[in-house]
Amino acid sequence: MELLNIKKLDLEKKKVFIRCDFNVPMDEFGNISDDRRIRSALATINFCLDQDCAVILASHLGRPEGKVNEKYSLIPVARRLHQLLKRDVIFASDVVGEDAVSKASALKATEILLLENIRFEAGETNDDEELSKKLAAMADVYINDAFGVSHRAHSSVHGITKYFDDEHRAAGFLLEKEITFFGKLINEPVRPFAAIVGGSKVSGKLEALVNLLPKVDKVFIGGGMAFTFLKQMGYNIGASLVEDDLLDDAQKIMDEAKKLGVKFYLPVDVVAADKFAEDAVSKLVTAQEIPDDWMGLDIGPATVRLYREGLSDVQTVLWNGPMGVYEMDKFARGSSKIAHFVADSYATTVVGGGDTADLVQRIGLDEEMSFISTGGGASLELLEGKILPGVLPLIIQ
Ligand code: AMP
Repeated sequence: MELLNIKKLDLEKKKVFIRCDFNVPMDEFGNISDDRRIRSALATINFCLDQDCAVILASHLGRPEGKVNEKYSLIPVARRLHQLLKRDVIFASDVVGEDAVSKASALKATEILLLENIRFEAGETNDDEELSKKLAAMADVYINDAFGVSHRAHSSVHGITKYFDDEHRAAGFLLEKEITFFGKLINEPVRPFAAIVGGSKVSGKLEALVNLLPKVDKVFIGGGMAFTFLKQMGYNIGASLVEDDLLDDAQKIMDEAKKLGVKFYLPVDVVAADKFAEDAVSKLVTAQEIPDDWMGLDIGPATVRLYREGLSDVQTVLWNGPMGVYEMDKFARGSSKIAHFVADSYATTVVGGGDTADLVQRIGLDEEMSFISTGGGASLELLEGKILPGVLPLIIQ
């Protein structure tokens, strides 16, 4: 799959609309706590500025659900962009309103305009025709550099592409890098290839698991999703997170793994807690004997040893989803131990998913991984073998 390449466009002195993913985490005071996604977009922005383009940037932040909500304003992003680019960033107080339209039309070469949160417009998530048209009317060229939302058929990712032909639209460097990386990972991984899959639920990752099975040699399950499998095996899982409607699917996945010769690892012990809270009473128990009313919130030390042993010979590791409730220190140990082991290995290590990236960053191991994807849902859909709606219009036919 080859994407329309930004380097092949005639960009000189053009007005370029770049859909970025500036959906960055904020702390309780509204400060950006991790600007990886903003930094990841700089290559494309700078490339356009170097061609004397006028650059219009659009992004969403959080889920304002089609209404203006100051909490989700992109003003902090404008400030961070200004610091990182060392250039003035003009800010539009709306998306396609009077302010945005007049600032976009007055924008001169090498100037940068950031539109307000695109999801303040109700039409964005409905892939609204009218909104797509208004956004497209602002620029001569469209670039998608928002890998994190490319699995969504939204106006600024999908609808807008209809208004530009192949000479006037392309993938940005980040999108290109992510798609190329995952393409190689899925088609030609160096073996043995292991997937570590965790997080809260089986439902969110069911299809990805099914699609990964024929491609990997080993799967290591952690996090809340493990308990649906453990329950299906007849274990006492107490009050742990479980999806009873997916017990059959869990069985099918285990049967399929067996049929394909994929080694399917489940936790053998867990850190169980009497409630879902940092100050819970906790104890180590085997995965077969979680007391009633107690819930497993992390993998235990025996599981960590088992997983390390199983991971010791792998050449490629794909990790999506934490091993426990890593946001609470008390239940972060399993994820942290696995992260250290993976980071120290000589394997190609790929981290996908916002939570897993956040976890790796919190323990300071982000530089040690081979690749950290900016898209959680998007990378999973790629692994499911889907072509993302935001990417499809940018594929060279
Ligand atoms: P996901 O969005 O599906 O990748 O899930 C990430 C979330 O799963 C994190 O916020 C974790 O706190 C949560 N999680 C991980 N392990 C467990 C567990 N054993 N029980 C409940 N939640 C969990």
